[in-house]
Amino acid sequence: MVADAIALQQIAAPTFAEAARATAVRQRFSALGLADVRIDEAGSVLARLPGGSAAPLLVSAHLDTVFAADTDLKVSRHGSRICGPGIGDNAVGLAGLLELARVLQSNGLQLPGDLWLAANVGEEGLGDLRGMRQLQVHPGKQISATIVVEGAAYGRVIHRAVGARRYRISAQTAGGHSWNDAGAPSAIHALVDCAQQLLQLQLSSAPRVTLNIGRISGGTSINTIASHAQLELDLRSEDSALLADVASRAEAIIAAMPRTAGVNLTCV
Ligand SMILES: [Zn+2]
Repeated sequence: MVADAIALQQIAAPTFAEAARATAVRQRFSALGLADVRIDEAGSVLARLPGGSAAPLLVSAHLDTVFAADTDLKVSRHGSRICGPGIGDNAVGLAGLLELARVLQSNGLQLPGDLWLAANVGEEGLGDLRGMRQLQVHPGKQISATIVVEGAAYGRVIHRAVGARRYRISAQTAGGHSWNDAGAPSAIHALVDCAQQLLQLQLSSAPRVTLNIGRISGGTSINTIASHAQLELDLRSEDSALLADVASRAEAIIAAMPRTAGVNLTCV
């Protein structure tokens, strides 16, 4: 299982570029003799361990990592500890799927229903769970329960969901020179203003609501009035009503940002 985890970790799989790692998992599913091995419309790898007539169970682990394609993926060992980018999140999870299939096969257990294994794409960042969404279509229709294997959550069982809403706010202006065009609209100034207002939002602590501006990017140079900038906002809560509430308040702030004076603000 450790060998599987390291072998898969060595294949770069940033979100939206999981194909090479997906191919490696598909080969391993096929080598195990699993049924219906295939890659679905989203790019996730599926396989089925046949069982009885009861409703199937889905066990999934995500393929993608938060590390860019050019990250040095070298692993190092410190006693029994193995360190490397993405080994815990989520190469170990993928290796766990393979090990689960091996253990069930070698014990000859007859499962009450089919067991679907899925190595899904798009779990991290802006992947927005697109792999899991596709799995709700197929094989999801008949699925009785889903278990998600997360290497980073080893030793814990998480049985409550945290809802999240994510936004990318972009600002565009005509830009200009910091001295010659001083006072002209700046995309960065507009987003900083927006960020400051977002940070004023009152958040419940129980049930918990969180707000994070995880990334701000944009601009051209220190003496250029920024013509473009982006801000990524992550809202979370364990309470769906409170999440909807903070999302609508954040959207109201974004909607109220000035679009006049050459600032074009878009939000997705
Ligand atoms: Zn993860």
